Amino acid sequence: MDGAVPRFRVDVLTLFPELITGYASQSLLKLAISAGLVAVEAWNIRDWSKDKHQRVDDRPFGGGPGMVLMCEPVIDAYEAVQAKVERPGLPVMMTPAGRRLDQRLVEELATSERLVILCGRYEGFDDRIRQVIRPLEVSIGDYVCNGGEVPAMALIDATIRLIPGVLGDAESTEDESHSEPGRLEYPQYTRPRDYRGLAVPDVLLGGNHGAVAKWREEQSRARSQRGVERTDSNPGAAASG
Ligand code: SAM
Repeated sequence: MDGAVPRFRVDVLTLFPELITGYASQSLLKLAISAGLVAVEAWNIRDWSKDKHQRVDDRPFGGGPGMVLMCEPVIDAYEAVQAKVERPGLPVMMTPAGRRLDQRLVEELATSERLVILCGRYEGFDDRIRQVIRPLEVSIGDYVCNGGEVPAMALIDATIRLIPGVLGDAESTEDESHSEPGRLEYPQYTRPRDYRGLAVPDVLLGGNHGAVAKWREEQSRARSQRGVERTDSNPGAAASG
């Protein structure tokens, strides 16, 4: 890196920073970071605990199971991390109660220069953290993960694909599934031409680019129309159901 400011920076506040640094040290994200296009920093919320045992959670008022992340260490961590860089980051809280992550939201997030992502654990955040920080609340779907790190990684993974220069081929995201609402990509094939009696469609082998484009468009349309029925027509899904 030549010291230039990366186009997209993500600061992740977590109790498990190694999950994020491990992810950032692999594959496409690793390349984007070494090319200076993206920066990802993980911060341990415990480092802002004033407790001698570095506690960051406590029992919920009103009773009930589990522990809740306390306001003070989380908000102190958030404010300190925001101040580390001149450009303010968009605060994002990973929560099952948030706006559902989809490609439209990913596109919006990719226009930001910096995100500061809060990852919960245990029973989640004291609600006053949300009231003070007023983050964009994001859910990756209607199910509950153990922590916000995997949801944050899904968000980062989808977003960096849209940062210019991160993907080798600038066209790559244009035809992809969900590039338009409801649109799904056509089927892809590679070698061998025949596998267990399943042959690659002839049109892909003929070298006729016009015919290939037409076939792909038709396949994409048919797949998109099937949409929600896809899992029913997938033999693997039927067998596991
Ligand atoms: N008690 C919370 C509830 O019922 O909504 C769930 C807490 S969950 C075990 C712990 C943390 O994981 C949450 O604070 C959040 O950061 C993260 N998390 C879990 N599921 C998520 C999802 N679907 N989307 C985004 N974040 C999620």
